[in-house]
Amino acid sequence: MFTKHVVLVRQSIVLLENKMSKLLLLLLLQLLVVNAVAARTTAESRLRTVVVDSVVLHAIGGPFCKQGEVLFSAASGEGERWISFFARHEVLGIHYVIDRRGKVFSGIAENRVANHALGWNPSSIGIELVNRGDGKEAYTEVQIDALVELLTGVMSRYPEISKSSIVRHSDVDETKFECAGAAHKRKADPGVLFNYVDLLNRL
Ligand SMILES: [Zn+2]
Repeated sequence: MFTKHVVLVRQSIVLLENKMSKLLLLLLLQLLVVNAVAARTTAESRLRTVVVDSVVLHAIGGPFCKQGEVLFSAASGEGERWISFFARHEVLGIHYVIDRRGKVFSGIAENRVANHALGWNPSSIGIELVNRGDGKEAYTEVQIDALVELLTGVMSRYPEISKSSIVRHSDVDETKFECAGAAHKRKADPGVLFNYVDLLNRL
């Protein structure tokens, strides 16, 4: 009876140890996953391996499908909100955010890769404009002035960038999403109210 009890106690200790080591293993795995995710965010973005030769222009807002209707996200708030959104985001990253007041916020350093446009990340600078990008909200004058100033600086630092390599996200991403049986462009930014021709003329 006594021996049996001891054996039982030993068995439960072994079980407990197994459970604890499983728990430890899980914790360790979790830590590794968290680190792997963190590695893709602002602080840990990787250094460039190719020459920077382009700029991709974005609007924060974008289309989505809700109950069979294409809606645009609100892009509410100013630059502080969005630069910290990208800093915390597990996958997405950005070099600059320019808000409606014309304030410029720096995110990922120019010499590091940011995840902002599929296929364009290794060699491009990403700039987000705080706007719905829905073709209804006008861009503010101060915002575009700030963009011209920022781009002038970027082009002086990276001579490989020419006017023709400053593109809109909508120019370089043709992926679609479905809404109410119809296909819609997923990346419509910066949208029809963004005066691209005028911008290039000012550079
Ligand atoms: Zn975009």
